[in-house]
Amino acid sequence: MSEQYDYQVLYIGAGHGTFDGAIPLAASGCKVAIVESGLVGGTCPNRGCNAKITLDEPVKVMREVERLNDVLNGKVELNWTGNVEHKQQVIDSLPSMISGLMDSVGIDVIKGYATFKDSHTVIVNDQEITADKIVISTGLRPHRLDVPGEDLTHDSEDFMNLKSLPRDIVIIGSGYIGMEFATIANAAGSKVTVMLHSDKALRRFHQPFVEKVIADMTKRGVKFIYNAKVAGFSNNGSNISVQYGDSEELTTDWVLDATGRIPNTENMNLEKIGVEYNERGIVINDHLQTTVDNIYASGDVIDSDQPKLTPTAIFESMYLMKLFSGKTTDAINFPVVPSVVFTSPRIAEAGVSIEDAEKAGLSVTNSDLSQDWYYQVDKETLAESKQVHDKDGRLVGITEMSDHADDVINSLLPIIELKLDPEEIGRIVSLFPSIGSAAFGRI
Ligand SMILES: Cc1cc2nc3c(=O)[nH]c(=O)nc-3n(C[C@H](O)[C@H](O)[C@H](O)COP(=O)(O)OP(=O)(O)OC[C@H]3O[C@@H](n4cnc5c(N)ncnc54)[C@H](O)[C@@H]3O)c2cc1C
Repeated sequence: MSEQYDYQVLYIGAGHGTFDGAIPLAASGCKVAIVESGLVGGTCPNRGCNAKITLDEPVKVMREVERLNDVLNGKVELNWTGNVEHKQQVIDSLPSMISGLMDSVGIDVIKGYATFKDSHTVIVNDQEITADKIVISTGLRPHRLDVPGEDLTHDSEDFMNLKSLPRDIVIIGSGYIGMEFATIANAAGSKVTVMLHSDKALRRFHQPFVEKVIADMTKRGVKFIYNAKVAGFSNNGSNISVQYGDSEELTTDWVLDATGRIPNTENMNLEKIGVEYNERGIVINDHLQTTVDNIYASGDVIDSDQPKLTPTAIFESMYLMKLFSGKTTDAINFPVVPSVVFTSPRIAEAGVSIEDAEKAGLSVTNSDLSQDWYYQVDKETLAESKQVHDKDGRLVGITEMSDHADDVINSLLPIIELKLDPEEIGRIVSLFPSIGSAAFGRI
């Protein structure tokens, strides 16, 4: 590094797109700073994955109790206030834990909002900070509908902080956040309506499985309004009225706007210094380098086809660590990145999708998992798996709908990523009985 800069690498944003790689980079002797305008750790630990999965845990338990109702006596009910308090206890210490790791390797964490002065200088709280390389890792924020009365609606973070559960909730949007929160709110006893922009929910997921999950949610009382065309919101006494479709209207207590997430690219002077971006995020090359040579981007804020999820952000920040410390000069080579929606049952998938497999003429096998003895242990009836094999018989894709789908996909990932052949798979001995051994038994 030239002596002329304060730091060798400066990261903007302290989420997974930054810290997983920044910490080992600093530990290897590189002078690193991170600028963060909110909570250290970013979205995932503070208002994303960790918080959501904690709120979901009792739902998973309730489903299991429900299935074993002729074995277990008594009925369980979800205590919403207790659930939100428990979530808070789980996540409260995460920012200081991550800050502690940063401290321990000498990273300077600068609290404030960063804007660019030039390609090597950012301004934070009127102070100029210079760096040889800068990584933009500013993530996404909730998209908000541009309709009258939008200020009466709430975002995903508000939902996870609700002190008491509204009696009636309308969720606009049927992406993974909308569908997961509909599952949780319904299980907790709220009357839930999901309003969809089109005729499909969870567009990235295998639609026959999505339809089965929707049918189950409908049976449990969730109402789905397709092609809703939400036109606006207004106050209706103590309630909110939602206008949609051809002059239709419904009344609710609380509205979640889950219409998507958009990149944090504005108000940083990116145009001035020549960093190109569009509505999908920052434009990068195959080395995560932006249109300005010394500026890189990582995590959700990137314009890329990879799922905008924590594992992608972690992989990208680790790649930049290797690039900056000279451990690689190669282009980023993404592994198979799995996806999951934590509905109940979950849908999880990795590798070649069923739709792509069918187009390519690959073999797709379907297993009704409700017939598998291990799934009968907790009486799962809504459980199905589809596996894609290539022409040489190697497993190249898997999609599962079940309450265990996330664990199953994790256990089978190495087979797909490492392209293991049947003999190599035969060398893997799983614990028995376990969901992993049940999954391996089907390959
Ligand atoms: C409700 C919800 C549930 C989710 N569930 C899952 C899940 O189950 N599994 C999963 O894998 N992923 C999940 N995600 C997605 C996951 O949280 C993100 O993929 C991940 O956090 C991306 O990390 P990041 O570092 O790219 O961005 P972020 O974690 O968003 O970090 C960006 C940081 O940059 C800061 N920042 C922005 N602009 C500036 C600026 N100019 N100056 C200084 N700081 C700035 C922000 O304050 C923020 O802290 C979920 C997300 C949400 C919202």
